[in-house]
Amino acid sequence: MTAHKENTETLPISHCPFCGSADLKKFDELKDGIGAEEMTEKELADYKAGKWGTVICKKCGLSIDYNG
Ligand SMILES: [Zn+2]
Repeated sequence: MTAHKENTETLPISHCPFCGSADLKKFDELKDGIGAEEMTEKELADYKAGKWGTVICKKCGLSIDYNG
């Protein structure tokens, strides 16, 4: 009974470290970034599991990389 949904609303970062805004969006690495072709299978699996990626602040435009 795990109805846990992993999508763009689940961000590992709650607010922008630069301006403090909570209006963040996840950068879609598969669609707008390097794409699955440029990743190793492990990287892709980790990316889908939400272990790494980039979050962009909609207010100031800062991109925040996260890993682990
Ligand atoms: Zn910001």
